Amino acid sequence: MASIRLQALQETLNRKPMVVTEPKERRSELYAANVFTLSTAKHYIPKESYQAVLSAITHGTRIDRKVADQVAAGMKAWAISKGATHYTHWFQPLTGASAEKHDAFFEPAGDGSAIDKFDGSQLVQQEPDASSFPSGGIRNTFEARGYTAWDPTSPAFVMGTTLCIPTVFVSYTGEALDNKTPLLRALQSIDHAATEVARYFDKNVNKVICTLGWEQEYFLVDTALAAVRPDLVMAGRLLLGHTAAKNQQLEDHYFGSIPERALAFMRDLEIECIKLGIPVKTRHNEVAPNQYEVAPLFEEANLAVDHNTLLMDVMDKVAARHHFKVLLHEKPFSGINGSGKHNNWSMCTDTGVNLLSPGKTPKSNLMFLTFFVNTIKAVHDYADLLRASIASAGNDHRLGANEAPPAIISVFIGQQLTAVLDELENVTDGNLSPEEKTELKLNVVGKIPEILLDNTDRNRTSPFAFTGNKFEFRAVGASANCAKPIMVLSTIVSQTLRQFKHDVDALIEKGMKKDDAIFNVLREYIKQSKRIRFEGDGYSEEWVQEAARRGLSNFKTTPEALKVQVSEQAIALFEAHQVMNHREIEARYEIELEAYTKRVQIEGRVLGDIATNHVIPTAIAYQNTLIQNVRGLKEIFGNDYMEYAAQQIELIKAISMHINKIKAYVDAMINERKVANKITDAEAKAEAYCFKVKPYFEQIKYHCDKLELMVDDELWPLTKTRELLFIR
Ligand code: ADP
Ligand code: MG
Repeated sequence: MASIRLQALQETLNRKPMVVTEPKERRSELYAANVFTLSTAKHYIPKESYQAVLSAITHGTRIDRKVADQVAAGMKAWAISKGATHYTHWFQPLTGASAEKHDAFFEPAGDGSAIDKFDGSQLVQQEPDASSFPSGGIRNTFEARGYTAWDPTSPAFVMGTTLCIPTVFVSYTGEALDNKTPLLRALQSIDHAATEVARYFDKNVNKVICTLGWEQEYFLVDTALAAVRPDLVMAGRLLLGHTAAKNQQLEDHYFGSIPERALAFMRDLEIECIKLGIPVKTRHNEVAPNQYEVAPLFEEANLAVDHNTLLMDVMDKVAARHHFKVLLHEKPFSGINGSGKHNNWSMCTDTGVNLLSPGKTPKSNLMFLTFFVNTIKAVHDYADLLRASIASAGNDHRLGANEAPPAIISVFIGQQLTAVLDELENVTDGNLSPEEKTELKLNVVGKIPEILLDNTDRNRTSPFAFTGNKFEFRAVGASANCAKPIMVLSTIVSQTLRQFKHDVDALIEKGMKKDDAIFNVLREYIKQSKRIRFEGDGYSEEWVQEAARRGLSNFKTTPEALKVQVSEQAIALFEAHQVMNHREIEARYEIELEAYTKRVQIEGRVLGDIATNHVIPTAIAYQNTLIQNVRGLKEIFGNDYMEYAAQQIELIKAISMHINKIKAYVDAMINERKVANKITDAEAKAEAYCFKVKPYFEQIKYHCDKLELMVDDELWPLTKTRELLFIR
């Protein structure tokens, strides 16, 4: 009988692309069909309640019980019209994924009949039995209560037959147990700070939102091929497997024509996304074989985060219909590109101005420069915190792995803007002369829009790049919940803007003119943050050395990177902005360390199992064939047999050597795991897994991969890398 791998290959080769019929409606008509948008809500809830919801969304005002009841009634009627039978609070616990617990609308009335019930109290608050979600000790099991509370800023939607209501998730004592709560608090903080600063330039500004456009990279592999790889099933990446002879060196996949089966999946996914109001717009092949990207139009950050979380869930479901497994791991295959999730971020006023987009007048350009320089200064001052915000076991394999942004945080702004900042660095200390002002306004600040138009030198190697009208945080991992990096980025920019306002006001109070004060403070910020700016090749070894000379950090592993989150500076920052208190910060730190430890632990177990249960027995089976062959040769050729059997004997010896090595390394790894498992301190345990257990992975892989190259292809039970990457 053929090996399970060959059976899986056969199954895959027999697949046909699924037929995806385009819905009757055009996509623009289908858009948000399953979302309780404001325009839909208008038809379902009374006018006063609608106004109350609107005010809750824009000003954060409270929603009273009567309004909640009316909204719930409208939502229920709408959801039932869409075929919903159940409702759920939809939240994002600290596992990084989304969580839901479905309740039926249906309720027996007690007299033999039944009604559909869903009122304000069920809309506004729920108490899921949530004792199994990570809480980092915030929610002791004896007070296992966690509450989910409606977030009216993110609209409810129907998925399948369930009405999903986006909510925050907090403990009995009000501490955040999710990713959304700190994000909402950070967005509120930056709203205040950015509005104040924007008002230097335009008194009509009353609110500033953050915008986020994510670009989701992923791999597609056939479910049958994936199913026979325990590492893909359990860890989402290959822990062993020889590199394919051809991978991405021909650069023939990037933006190439999309394979039919993948295209069918994408179309199906897009239709689902469109109905859910996720404005997906772009699809293309990525650099590595079987790697793709999907990207929407940018949205308000909280909504964009919800949409990305939702997308990752929808992708899984749609992929199953197409017999695909979606890999969101940051580095599923070694030797080829990993997957990231670029976070394009900016700030936008309620007057419709993108604060990171150069304007048409010197005045609006000075506003642009202010937000631009403040963002750079924030990244400079809190680079380590930003690095921590993207740390995960998966992303460790991608950052600095020579094909993704390095673990060093730096900012790329392009040649032209560098020249502008260089000029601003020379602004006179104190009040500016009229000539100087004219020169600055006309020739420096005033020229920005034209120069940006021909600013095409996009540096792809930078982890944090300015791309014309937004910053692109590229170091975020493909499986990450964007809430964390965006929460950190928004908080640090908020902090810097507050400081900026403080510094400018201080100069104005001393009698300096507003514009002069702004130029003076910008000059200082440009000087202070200069070392974070880097325009060269971020993947080069020289940069690693140069960054070290500049005193920039290079945290290559998650345990090292996470530490800064509990530093005094970080705690003071988050507390000052009421984004997180120290208990929430410490809890998160522990949860993230534990998540890291568990991931490496699972990988270690799976690798040990595969090596022991798949690789070694297969190698022995093949070795037995060789032994039989040698015996036969001896029978035929007698004492001359060595003339014919020398190669086989070499192979027999080599196989034994590799088996011995694998066995020894697996045993040593298991021992290290035992030692690590006894450690109770989360930090020390994560370090033990990182520095004592994980290093064995490469050794075990090395010898397994050698055996893969020796053993008869027919016998090998694990799907090979070339098959995962090229069979579709
Ligand atoms: P790429 O980086 O692949 O060249 P684009 O620059 O066209 O792609 O856009 C990438 C993402 O940036 C898209 O999701 C887009 O909607 C988003 N984007 C564009 N403008 C903004 C903005 N002002 N704020 C946030 N995201 C934005
Ligand atoms: Mg991009």
